[in-house]
Amino acid sequence: MNAEIIGVGSELLLGQIANTNAQFLSKQLASLGVNVYYHTVVGDNPKRLETAIEAAKERADLLVFTGGLGPTKDDLTKETVAKSLGRSLVSHEESLSSIKDYFVKTKRVMTPNNEKQALVVEGSDVLLNDHGMAPGMYIEADGKTYIMLPGPPKEMKPMFENYAKSHILDRLGVKDQIISRVLRFFAIGESQLETEIEDLLEAQSNPTIAPLAGDGEVTLRLTAKHETEEGALALLKEIEDKIQERVGEYFYGYDQTTLFSEALKKLGEKNWTLASAESLTGGLFSERMTSISGSGEHMRGSIVTYHDNIKEHVLGVDTDVLQKHGAISEQCARQMAEKIKEKFNTSVGISFTGVAGPNTAEGHPVGHVFVGLAIEGKETVVHELNLQGTREGIRKRTVNYGAYYLLKE
Ligand code: ATP
Ligand code: MG
Repeated sequence: MNAEIIGVGSELLLGQIANTNAQFLSKQLASLGVNVYYHTVVGDNPKRLETAIEAAKERADLLVFTGGLGPTKDDLTKETVAKSLGRSLVSHEESLSSIKDYFVKTKRVMTPNNEKQALVVEGSDVLLNDHGMAPGMYIEADGKTYIMLPGPPKEMKPMFENYAKSHILDRLGVKDQIISRVLRFFAIGESQLETEIEDLLEAQSNPTIAPLAGDGEVTLRLTAKHETEEGALALLKEIEDKIQERVGEYFYGYDQTTLFSEALKKLGEKNWTLASAESLTGGLFSERMTSISGSGEHMRGSIVTYHDNIKEHVLGVDTDVLQKHGAISEQCARQMAEKIKEKFNTSVGISFTGVAGPNTAEGHPVGHVFVGLAIEGKETVVHELNLQGTREGIRKRTVNYGAYYLLKE
């Protein structure tokens, strides 16, 4: 089988973005034994896309498209492929309802062009998009195979690995079981993690190890291939054990989980209740925690102690501590955690104090943060952080660290 990868998007031709999708897909296809003979890039222009499709049909068995599946007028990939196949577009129910859910969840108003995103070429196998709205497609027609994937790499890559790949293997007559698992890490940078497992990354073939960084965390997707499911699982376990041995202290969970749901799980396991005292985070920790259903069993409440007067008179932090050490201090974080735990009569008190920026405060640089954790039967600990970024980023990362420290207890 030989393939052609067709990147659709004028921004590629304008040099605004590099065609990293083609690079990724070439590697993936090579690992499946599919020869890639051509990379084509074409702008958001239906006439020229049509010409590109006709040319590719002449010289490739498999045509893989990326981009142009979105809701806007210039997104034309599926329309043009449908036309070339003489098929029409039909609405895909599952995608439509997940798009609708998304709009309900984010309380945004859905427009008719968002409905367009749920349209797929008639007779195609739909590839679900777990990280965005536009579904992908797999089509076999007249001896050719067509795969359409969205443009954004964070949507395209998992769609290829989790859904498109197995179709290609079926098509190639490969009967192997393919199983993927995502390991999630926090408080470690991408380069540090990759350095720790460099030799494993270099030697990888089966399972494959795909690192991905984003949103302050790093993930590794392990994908194993074996004739049997047990065999694939054993391969996964073997490589995971090696990885855990080296960077397990930063590991927090599998697959689609989040720091906050793992932290909540921890509260459940320990049968702990929790309250937060928040200064620079202004209630964000509590917001993130309470947004998870089931948190009511454990989360008791929160006080936003933004001003020092509130830290002192509402929460009960010693005047002495505030005068001697200031609000941005190990001592203040410690007392905040202990006082909130006492006040709310919980098993755990967590506190956040520090500088979100953009201006420095009390002589501390932006991003200097203390997270206190007072837990029944344990010594109170205070973690000190030096974070980088915008005000919003620092606040967000601060509460993520809070969840991380909690789940690691
Ligand atoms: P969306 O629903 O986000 O509009 P789409 O499938 O319509 O998705 P495009 O609009 O073509 O995709 O591209 C969206 C973004 O995806 C681009 O702005 C770019 O950041 C990224 N992207 C698109 N094509 C590629 C590519 N070949 N390589 C790397 N990134 C790409
Ligand atoms: Mg688009």
